Amino acid sequence: MNLAALEPRAREIIGRYDEPRAAMLPLLWLAQSHIGHIPPEAERWVGGLLGVAVSHVREVVSFYSMFRTRPAGRHELRVCTSLPCMLRGAENVLAQLEARFHVRPGETTSDGELTLTEVECLCACEIAPAGQLDEQFVGPLDDDTIEAIAGGAIRPPADSPSIVERQPFVSTDGPVISPRFRNVDGTWWDAYVADGGYVAAAKALSSMTPSQVVDEVSKANLRGLGGAGFPTGRKWSFIPKGSPKPKYLVVNADEGEPGTFKDRYILERDPHALLEGMIIAASAIGSHKAYVYIRGEYFRPAERFARAVAEAYERGWLGKNVQGSGFDLDVVIHRGAGAYICGEETALLTSIEGGKGFPKLKPPFPAISGLFQCPTIVNNVETLACVPFILREGADRFAALGTPKQGGTRLFSVCGHVNRPGLYEAPVGITLRELIDRHAQGVRRGHSLKAVIPGGMSAKVLAAEEIDVAMDFDSLLAAGTMAGSGGVIVMDDSASMVEALQSAAKFFAHESCGQCSPCGEGRLQDLDDLLSIARAMEGKTICVFADAAAWPVQSYITKFRAEFEEHITIHGIADCRLQIADCRPIQSAISNQQSAISRSQICRT
Ligand code: SF4
Repeated sequence: MNLAALEPRAREIIGRYDEPRAAMLPLLWLAQSHIGHIPPEAERWVGGLLGVAVSHVREVVSFYSMFRTRPAGRHELRVCTSLPCMLRGAENVLAQLEARFHVRPGETTSDGELTLTEVECLCACEIAPAGQLDEQFVGPLDDDTIEAIAGGAIRPPADSPSIVERQPFVSTDGPVISPRFRNVDGTWWDAYVADGGYVAAAKALSSMTPSQVVDEVSKANLRGLGGAGFPTGRKWSFIPKGSPKPKYLVVNADEGEPGTFKDRYILERDPHALLEGMIIAASAIGSHKAYVYIRGEYFRPAERFARAVAEAYERGWLGKNVQGSGFDLDVVIHRGAGAYICGEETALLTSIEGGKGFPKLKPPFPAISGLFQCPTIVNNVETLACVPFILREGADRFAALGTPKQGGTRLFSVCGHVNRPGLYEAPVGITLRELIDRHAQGVRRGHSLKAVIPGGMSAKVLAAEEIDVAMDFDSLLAAGTMAGSGGVIVMDDSASMVEALQSAAKFFAHESCGQCSPCGEGRLQDLDDLLSIARAMEGKTICVFADAAAWPVQSYITKFRAEFEEHITIHGIADCRLQIADCRPIQSAISNQQSAISRSQICRT
């Protein structure tokens, strides 16, 4: 283990950041890619380089699921068992893999070739049941792909076309972003420019004032498409004008909401749309440094986005004096390491600063005191990718595509029990029924629709008779749920709502940061206790994670109470206890005292 050889590279990484300790995650990635895991010696090395205590480095390592403290096999197969994959047979696949490789999750084959790991959502729900072999998504996992993995046939580098990632349906005819999705290997410089690329950024830098840009984006009714739905132009206007501090633009590419996979396609197939949107946003808020936080599991998307960044630097669209405008902008790509909570904006900022991904109480909001205590705007990938269209085609045209309060189209990720899982660009006013029946071609033959989660797993579930609702933020809010991340999880009559809710509980238990008592130590004794605790959790914690964990409980039990009562009556507590006892994420969460729900409490549901 020669860590000294990595020092020049480590120093170059540290130099990219405004504060050295922000290089924590990239240095840990560097050590892990060199050694295969992060031993105590590597923790000391990172601590020494960054001037932080080894105990802090150790805490950070333990927080992120993708960092390993013990050696693993030469390859790692990560298998998702979150709800979208569960609906398409992930439990059976995992059992099949255990039998084929003679290992349990967390173990390595006796020849040291493969480590099998059970994970929460990989955001590859369109190829469910999905896995990830080293850096490559693999799916749907079936007999053929399992045998190909066993035979060593699947070992492609991250950026080569996969032989097993069957191409799902992806829109290529939407008006805003998806036309460039036709380029499966990415829309690079020439193709992007030929399609009108960078015209909008040129306009923003040469003939518009920052406040005119903000006004145009406000007029377009662009809302935050990461899930919050906050008006984007208004958010940009919160940056204090006279502040002497640096201002930051942070891109949230930590896509992690089960059922959602839209940002990955933008990063992979249309990265310049994001980059151009970033240049416009940064110029509007007066930022000269942008950080792009890409989730750890997104290896290929990160590589492709890095290629676009390099192209933009080469052509003078990033760096000093962009296109002779006098405006400077540098971009740093920052990789997460496996923690859903880092998708929450304050947790994301804490993570960039080199800490555990703990959310912070607001106010102050990031626009006032964000990254490194400086004014910061955090925007989602899809939100920013819409911005060039607005400046190029006009705010009125974008607004006219949507509803009176939300302009444009959206990328809807549709998965679960539909005939054609995929990514669909559609006007935000499309109904959920149209999206499922017309675009995703309905539920599987011989089955009927039972329930739909319209906006990622945090959203409240809708029953089959509730899907004649428009998919914009306000309509779904009025219907008692939310548009969230645009991840639509469809369940037909074969789905058990009890198992679906258990899956949601498993996910939130695994992903809670454990800071607040309502999220960390809820008591669940029966269905009414569950509802009462869900009510007690709602709106009372540092971040909205506890709300997101409570909403599925409230909606599943309220709308499908008879099924829960039947499950308890027929199967009793023992059956439930068996399932929970087999659930490693919950076991580990419980043993770490980070579980949202204790074992005995869950067993009484
Ligand atoms: Fe952490 Fe949960 Fe509290 Fe959010 S609500 S800060 S995830 S413990």
